[in-house]
Amino acid sequence: MLNGKTAVVTGSTSGIGLAIAEAFAAAGCRIVLNGILSSEKAEELVQRFGKLSGAECFFHPADLADPEQCTALIRDTEARFGTVDILINNAGVQHVAPVEQFPVEQWNAILAINLSAAFHTIRAALPHMQKRDSGRIVNIASVHGLVASVDKSAYVAAKHGLVGLTKVVALENAGKGITCNAICPGFVLTPLVQKQIDDSAAREEISVEQATRKLLERKQPSERFVSAEEIAALAIFLCSEAASSITGAALPIDGGWTAQ
Ligand code: NAD
Repeated sequence: MLNGKTAVVTGSTSGIGLAIAEAFAAAGCRIVLNGILSSEKAEELVQRFGKLSGAECFFHPADLADPEQCTALIRDTEARFGTVDILINNAGVQHVAPVEQFPVEQWNAILAINLSAAFHTIRAALPHMQKRDSGRIVNIASVHGLVASVDKSAYVAAKHGLVGLTKVVALENAGKGITCNAICPGFVLTPLVQKQIDDSAAREEISVEQATRKLLERKQPSERFVSAEEIAALAIFLCSEAASSITGAALPIDGGWTAQ
């Protein structure tokens, strides 16, 4: 069913976004990759995707902190492939500090990349989707779109905002063949989380293994990381015909974190 569709995956040079892009490529989608990457590495990535599936693929270097580049990502995709069928807003950054010490520039960057970028890409992609009465939007939020943790004010605010945006887009487009949902992962071992583990190991003067165990024990009852491939499989399902009635949902995939 996804064969021949065009999927834009933001932040797809690493971690969860890369696994999602690989899954959609394997399903036969034309893929637009995006992220912060040198042009040589981007070229290598595009070549690897070419081997992964016969479908076309290109890399768009939009810096999603900039609203105009968010819009350009959608416009350039439409110019090249005619349409955006599937939009996965995945790019995200993290910074950890108590509110009173939180650097203002980190607050602004996290809100811009983790929340406002999704508004700008959705705003640009919707008119074409509405014309065709068809479209799928998946926003990669977080358990932190549903519950809070200390020292993550900007991230929690942005992810709660992203869940709210998801619901409004779903309601405004209900009955138009367009769904919009949020996926809310618990901990996934990607560079974003590895940095938090390394920082806490250094701060608490414990080994990286001990810091990893502590992180999972504190939050994630399954005591294992969610895999990026599990998240990709959920995104594929949300973009399938079988998920046509799922819209405005914020789906946890968190080893029991938010059940507590
Ligand atoms: P990651 O650091 O591995 O990947 C982040 C991606 O975003 C990279 O491709 C990076 O180039 C891109 N990116 C960062 N800033 C950008 C910018 N200004 N413009 C364009 N692209 C930019 O992180 P990840 O863990 O794979 O996270 C992906 C998403 O999943 C994020 O939104 C994150 O908040 C969310 N998430 C992650 C976890 C986790 O445990 N790893 C849990 C819940 C939610």
